[in-house]
Amino acid sequence: TLSGNPFASRTLYANPFYASEVKSAAAAMTDTALAASAAKVADVGSFLWIDTRSKISVIEENLSNVPCTHIAGLVIYDLPGRDCAAKASNGELAVGDLPVYKSEYIDPIVTILKKFPNTAFALVIEPDSLPNLVTNIDKQACKDSASGYRDGVAYALKQLNLPNIAMYIDAGHGGWLGWNDNLKPGAKELANAYKAAGSPKTVRGVATNVAGWNAYDLSPGEFSKATDAQWNKAQNEKEYIALFSPELKSAGMPGQAIIDTGRNAVTGLRKEWGNWCNVRGAGFGVRPTGSTGNSLVDAFVWVKPGGESDGTSDTSAKRYDSFCGKEDAFKPSPEAGQWNQAYFEDLVKNAKPAF
Ligand code: BGC
Repeated sequence: TLSGNPFASRTLYANPFYASEVKSAAAAMTDTALAASAAKVADVGSFLWIDTRSKISVIEENLSNVPCTHIAGLVIYDLPGRDCAAKASNGELAVGDLPVYKSEYIDPIVTILKKFPNTAFALVIEPDSLPNLVTNIDKQACKDSASGYRDGVAYALKQLNLPNIAMYIDAGHGGWLGWNDNLKPGAKELANAYKAAGSPKTVRGVATNVAGWNAYDLSPGEFSKATDAQWNKAQNEKEYIALFSPELKSAGMPGQAIIDTGRNAVTGLRKEWGNWCNVRGAGFGVRPTGSTGNSLVDAFVWVKPGGESDGTSDTSAKRYDSFCGKEDAFKPSPEAGQWNQAYFEDLVKNAKPAF
């Protein structure tokens, strides 16, 4: 059984899937110094995304050799009507496919994870889903998705409540649920899912900074001088957790956090705080660690595998989202999840600390 912070005594596992993406990327580079730096990224731990039913089979291939000194990260990401407020990551399941989500997605994952009772797992639960119900419920697609998201997340939390697992529900970032008016409704939305699942023991709290992101403790924050800054005291992720964690607790759920530092090394890149798609000039941030110096933060982790696209910049594509065409978005970019070699090179060049 994992007790306390599961990252305190374990290193985030570098899964072979991302390692091989990185190794091929490094091998394709002509600049030998850059290639040598890039190759080192393969050793950095990151989360493995199970973003379709067909991806479930990679769990065993990737995670059957995790040493007991390590913890394997998985992202649960296949809700019906996925990505209701944007187009870039629309998923394979339609609104109403909740039975399919349960029986063909969550249940098989549970069966597989039960085969590895001695491996520690950290799970990020459904990025962007509940936060979208807090701030984008005026959009028809989010209205339609709401009950499936709520029931789906609760089902996932309940079924995946196994002794070797620690779960973190996605909570957007400071520029999303951190607004004064969103903190309480956000905490309530997440805590409702937690309680609907029967308050599972293995839920530790939340994961933040995965899709959109901020610096951890930059002060003043990147958008502190914006005219609307007066309505958001969560100008960096450290402040966000300090504000959100007590709200989670008073709403009735645990308030620990893991924070994605995979791409947040460089600030001052975005025209607007809400810009999330392939932000140009980004760099790999702090390497995964359970030593955060913050009792509310279990770990800094890499959840989004840097180099995998946030969304296509092809305006004729079905999943083209206008955020991926913005001035501060890198172009050209392939479909969400696909490898973007040029973007990866920039992440390596702009990494802090450097590779
Ligand atoms: C995509 C997923 C992908 C994940 C990690 C998401 O934006 O929609 O397909 O697995 O990013 O790169």
